[in-house]
Amino acid sequence: MNTYTDDIAVATEWSMKALGLMARHQVVPLPANYEVWFRYASGQDSVLNEEIDSRLKEGKKIDEQLSSDLHQRFVSHASLADTTLDAGDKLNSEVDKILKLVQAAAGDSSALGSSVRAASEGLTNKSTPSDIRHVVEAIMSASMQMENRSKELEQRLHETKGELSTLQINLTKARNEARTDGLTGVANRKAFDETLAQEIARATSERTSLCLIIGDIDHFKAFNDTWGHRTGDQVLRLVASCLKGGVRETDTVARYGGEEFAVIMPAISTDGAERLANAMRAAVQARELVKRSTGETLGRVTMSLGVATLRPGESPSALIERADACLYTAKRSGRNRVVSEQAEGALKAKAS
Ligand code: GH3
Ligand code: MG
Ligand code: MG
Repeated sequence: MNTYTDDIAVATEWSMKALGLMARHQVVPLPANYEVWFRYASGQDSVLNEEIDSRLKEGKKIDEQLSSDLHQRFVSHASLADTTLDAGDKLNSEVDKILKLVQAAAGDSSALGSSVRAASEGLTNKSTPSDIRHVVEAIMSASMQMENRSKELEQRLHETKGELSTLQINLTKARNEARTDGLTGVANRKAFDETLAQEIARATSERTSLCLIIGDIDHFKAFNDTWGHRTGDQVLRLVASCLKGGVRETDTVARYGGEEFAVIMPAISTDGAERLANAMRAAVQARELVKRSTGETLGRVTMSLGVATLRPGESPSALIERADACLYTAKRSGRNRVVSEQAEGALKAKAS
């Protein structure tokens, strides 16, 4: 489904405008970024335009993280809506076809009733065998027509059932895709926000503990500058897999932002979460990085992590803020370390 326009001149104008804006604001000309700016140039999504305009007005740079957030929120989301609408349209037309068949079958059935009635009224004890044969033939023909219609209806229902299960599979797939980070395969920010809210509600009602870890790759800008963005992307995948490898079944690993990850850990003590965070940190550090295309050794990356434990009645944003504060302390006190709230106070005092 084309949500923009089929007019080549209009689309070309938007395209030129998008490329010009991307160059002016130093946005990397990657396909996903182009989609965001093409949408902006088309002016079809006022929320997107307001969001970008307000950033530009504040003199903020449209960096990679923001571009990826914008893509997630305004482009992937929109194409998912298209898929869902297409599926809905298809289902509607299937239902229409079935309704027509049911109406036709109902017509046939009342026609059969009428022919049986007419026949029984027309037959008397003076009717000849030939009269009877004609009547029987008329009834047979009406009933065959009805049988054919029922078969057709059954066949159509069978096909629709198949269509429906395909639709269901596609919708589940689309729903999962909408909650997954395309680069790393872990939960995306949307799924993180939803899961955190659910887990906080559960921890509150079941009176269990909940920890949140936020981790950020150390000096990742320098890594990208030295080895290139694509190699940086490979590192993001590797870090995500180290995190996934270090959690329990019940935990949720998410890409929280560009090179920031979060882990939601239900039913765990602060010490337990800190231990797992340290194991993840060690797993990241242990991986020697090799450039796939050339086999070149790229050294290692490290990660800093902050651990916060939910307090009674606390909101998701307050918990995130405290985990972030711990992460910040970990960065300030030397990086490649885990800081939980217990240690935060002492380290903060030392760092300042
Ligand atoms: P710090 O140790 O203080 O975290 O330093 P840093 O360089 O990691 O922090 P900074 O916030 O200055 O830079 C984050 C960098 O992460 C900027 C950008 O190059 C990189 N980054 C963010 N998102 C992506 C991405 O999707 N792919 C790649 N390759 N790099 C990304
Ligand atoms: Mg960062
Ligand atoms: Mg960083």
